[in-house]
Amino acid sequence: MENRVALITGAGRGIGAKIALTLAQDNTDIAVVDYSDESAAKDTMDALAAAGVTARYYRCDVSDFSATKAVVDQIVKDFGKIDILVNNAGITADKLIMRMDEADWDRVLGINLKGCFNMVKHVTPYMMRKRYGRIVSISSVVGLMGNAGQANYAASKAGIVGLTKSVAKELGSRNITANAVAPGFIKTAMTDALTEEQKQAMYKLIPLGALGETEDIAQAVKFLVSDAARYITGVVLRVDGGMDM
Ligand code: NAP
Repeated sequence: MENRVALITGAGRGIGAKIALTLAQDNTDIAVVDYSDESAAKDTMDALAAAGVTARYYRCDVSDFSATKAVVDQIVKDFGKIDILVNNAGITADKLIMRMDEADWDRVLGINLKGCFNMVKHVTPYMMRKRYGRIVSISSVVGLMGNAGQANYAASKAGIVGLTKSVAKELGSRNITANAVAPGFIKTAMTDALTEEQKQAMYKLIPLGALGETEDIAQAVKFLVSDAARYITGVVLRVDGGMDM
């Protein structure tokens, strides 16, 4: 059977890299779309090559509409198709609303939410032609619960839920599913930045009493893009140790 092809944004490191490696172990070829120079993703690209799949790196700012179109077209030229889109690239710029300025808002919404729109917009015409597609976008528990100091981030992640459900309704008849994964607090560079005090406060909110691992998110994505999830669309799968219930 020919390999499936997955486009994963922000796959150079963190959760995205783990998703890429997990899908690669499942015989999926990987197009890594990331912001930094390729050298920053060397470990991930080496691990993907070692997994025996075709993997290529594409440097692109997901918030740039025309750049994302060019990258998606190039990926289809290189790989022949895109079966799976994982919208994972995301940033934070945390401030209380009183201190948050327009640039903080625009940057976070531009990358986290418009970035998803850009990719969905450019990838789905190819999926529609093949009458097959699996889209998973990484939201956050913060998008479901809100969080003081993260109005921009929470709004972007809540927006992903609305985008996902709308795309699921529009494209279900073409055999394209769209789902979101809402991680709780996962051990990555993003959460390393928290102080010990902030982490202790967080543990009290998590019934399972610990941070999640990137593997927990990758397994959820692997399931949602698998045939086992063929009848699942428009859901938000919380992977948060029970934080939001
Ligand atoms: P991370 O370690 O900071 O990695 C983020 C990735 O996104 C990096 O590869 C980064 O590229 C890329 N990126 C940033 N801006 C970009 C842009 N403009 N265009 C293309 N790529 C860009 O974050 P993470 O913790 O793995 O988070 C991954 C996703 O999970 C994010 O959407 C995040 O919001 C979500 N999430 C994380 C947690 C958590 O606890 N960690 C919880 C809930 C949700 P560079 O390396 O080039 O900067």
